[in-house]
Amino acid sequence: MPVSQGLHHVTAMAADPRRNVAFYTRTLGLRLVKKTVNFDDPSVYHLYYGDETGTAGSILTFFPWPHAARGIKGSGEPVETAFLVPAGALDAWERRLADLGIEARREQRFGQARLVFADPDDMRLALVEAGDLSDSPGWAADGIDAEIAIRRIGGVTLAVSDMAGTARVLTDVFGYSEAGSEGDMKRFVSVSGSDAIDLRPSPPVRGRMGAGSVHHVAFRAATDGEQAAMAQSLVAGRIGVTEQKDRNYFRSVYFREPSGVLFEIATDEPGFAVDEAVEELGTALKLPAQYEAQRSRIEAVLPPLA
Ligand code: ZN
Repeated sequence: MPVSQGLHHVTAMAADPRRNVAFYTRTLGLRLVKKTVNFDDPSVYHLYYGDETGTAGSILTFFPWPHAARGIKGSGEPVETAFLVPAGALDAWERRLADLGIEARREQRFGQARLVFADPDDMRLALVEAGDLSDSPGWAADGIDAEIAIRRIGGVTLAVSDMAGTARVLTDVFGYSEAGSEGDMKRFVSVSGSDAIDLRPSPPVRGRMGAGSVHHVAFRAATDGEQAAMAQSLVAGRIGVTEQKDRNYFRSVYFREPSGVLFEIATDEPGFAVDEAVEELGTALKLPAQYEAQRSRIEAVLPPLA
């Protein structure tokens, strides 16, 4: 039975795309690794941020709708996304965010020091000090010391109404193991140790998706075959899955886990260098083949990013 190596990406919603790019590339120092459109609505960007090559597990993506209303957080959704930074980096990040006028708060969770703050759309974020990050080189944007640069996504916190049901998907389908509890929160860690999913019990009160909401969380499958096996085990457990969709940079299957969070299983292949060189990632607007004929019309509608 295949297991997931951990998170592949997290996808969220934003309002102003230009503000989104400025925050994630300049304030947080991630690399814009792909500039494309929502494959279901090419009038909206799909922006991917990550490390130098867009390694699976480093990717945070956004659909920025310029006039989107702010989301209302509820149950059945991810309520915080955490990034890993090297041990000792939080002091520098705390100073950097304060200098930029961004409110941040220090916390401890499961013995890890973390700095909690929000992006311009009030999406909740955390920087978490981790131990060995030698396999995650990260990406140091101008003005950010390589020693403190974000390395990858370290996990998400899910507000769940069916803790046991969500936990079962993490352990039985993706191979996560329970790593302890703190207060009423339970932590599950991927088999590779790459990330942690924290489950926070929440009454089944629905929020409303909007700017600042996380739309879905994607887990890695090494191959189409592994993805199919995971999908099969979900179906055997009476959880419906979508057909496979080609997202150009990975292939995806989606499902709602028992608490209502939208989960995706995304293949590692082919990755972000499939349509532009690593040195040029994120510099040109990339369109899937079905929209290439409409390129000039699409470019005329998309707002400038810089
Ligand atoms: Zn996705």
